[in-house]
Amino acid sequence: MYDIEKIRADFPILERTVYGHPLVYLDNTATSQTPRTVVDEITRMYYTSKANVHRGVHALSQEATSLQEATRERVRSYINAASTREIIFTRGTTESINLVASSYGNFLENGDEIILTVMEHHANIVPWQLLRRHKRVTLKVVPINERGELKMNAFRSMLSERTKLVSVCHVSNVLGTVNPVKEIVAEAHAMGIPVLIDGAQATPHMKVDVRDIGADFYAFSSHKMYGPTGIGILYGRESLLKQMPPYQGGGEMISHVTFDHTTFAELPYKFEAGTPDFVDIAALARALDYIDSVGMDNIAAHEHDLLEYTTGRMMEIPGMRIFGTAPGKSAVISFLIGNAHHYDTGMLLDKLGFAVRTGHHCAQPLMAALGIEGTVRASFAMYNTREEADRFIEALHRIAPMLA
Ligand code: PLP
Repeated sequence: MYDIEKIRADFPILERTVYGHPLVYLDNTATSQTPRTVVDEITRMYYTSKANVHRGVHALSQEATSLQEATRERVRSYINAASTREIIFTRGTTESINLVASSYGNFLENGDEIILTVMEHHANIVPWQLLRRHKRVTLKVVPINERGELKMNAFRSMLSERTKLVSVCHVSNVLGTVNPVKEIVAEAHAMGIPVLIDGAQATPHMKVDVRDIGADFYAFSSHKMYGPTGIGILYGRESLLKQMPPYQGGGEMISHVTFDHTTFAELPYKFEAGTPDFVDIAALARALDYIDSVGMDNIAAHEHDLLEYTTGRMMEIPGMRIFGTAPGKSAVISFLIGNAHHYDTGMLLDKLGFAVRTGHHCAQPLMAALGIEGTVRASFAMYNTREEADRFIEALHRIAPMLA
C-alpha cells in the first residue's frame, strides 16, 4: 500500500503555508523536496564527521572518504553501471554535460556533427555551441511531432560518418516525453557513434539501467531526486573515460606533479579536481535509500495516476492547451489557458499557494518550435496527492475567468 501520509510526514516543508494557503508544491521538475533523513545526514556530517576526503590519515578523514566512496557504490548499483570508476561526481547535470563537451570535445574535428533534439534543455545545447569557439562543429536537431515525440525517421536520416556524438534527453522537462533512448543508442552504435543521455528528468521517476540502455554517458542531478543540492553525476563508459583528457586541473586529480609535467590519477578521480562536496555526496546515499524504501515502481505508478487524473480534469477548463501528449509521458504538465500569459497564470496560482513554474523552462528552441514564449508547468513527485490535484483544478476554475 502507498502510504502517502507517512511519505508526506517525512518532508517537513510540505507542512508550510504560502499567503495563508497550504503549500501545494508542483515545481518538482525544477527541484524536488528533501526528506528528513537526507537533511539529518547533512547535519550529522557537519556535527560529527566533517573532514576533507582522501587527504588524511586521521580517523575523521577516513570516515568521510568511506562515506563518499560508499555513495559512489550506491550510485553505481542504482544505475547498474559496471564499475565505480564510471561514476564521476559533479555539481549537476549541467556540469556533467559540460565535462563531456570540454573533454570528449577534444576528439572532434572541423566538419563533425553532433545530433541533438529540439526538446533539449539549454544544458544540452549551449555546451556544444561553446565547442564552436575552437572547432567548426555542426549541430543537427531532431524535430518532434504534434504529440511531442521525436521523429525517429528524421533522426535516422541525420546519422552519418560525420556524426561524432548523439546527445539527447531521456525525458523532456517541458513535454514529459520519454524518449526511446535504447533504440536511439542501438541505431547510433550500429554506426559506431557514442550517445550521451541527459537523464535529469528520468532518474527521479523511473528505474534507469545504463547498461541495458547502452548509454556511453548518462548525466543527472541529485536535487531533482530528493537529494541535496550541488551534486550531480556523470556516468561514463570506462573505455571512453580512459581516453578522455581531464576536465579541470587541481588537487585530487593528479598522480604526480612537477613544474614540467603532471601525470593524472586513475578513474574516476582524474575528473574530480579539488575538494568535492563530500557532505552532500554522503547525504545523496540517503535520498537513494529513501526512493528504494518507497519503491520506484510504486512512485512511478502513483505519479502516473496523478498525471492521468489531473490531465483529464484540466480539460474541463475552457481554452486549456496542454503541450506534450505522448503516450507513457512523465508526470509533467505544460499548459496555457487560452491566450493568457503564462506569467499571469503562475502569479495567480502562487497567491493561492501553488508553486508552479512559468516561462521557457530553459528550452527556448522548443518554445520557438511550438510557436509560444513559455508555458505554465505543473509537475508531480512521490508526495503529491489527488486532493492537491483537486485543489489545483478548483484554482484553475477560479482564475480562468480572471485571465479571459
Ligand atoms: N537537463 C534537463 C532535462 C533538466 O530538466 C535540467 C534542469 O531542469 C537540467 C538538464 C539541468 O540540471 P541542473 O540545473 O541540475 O544542472
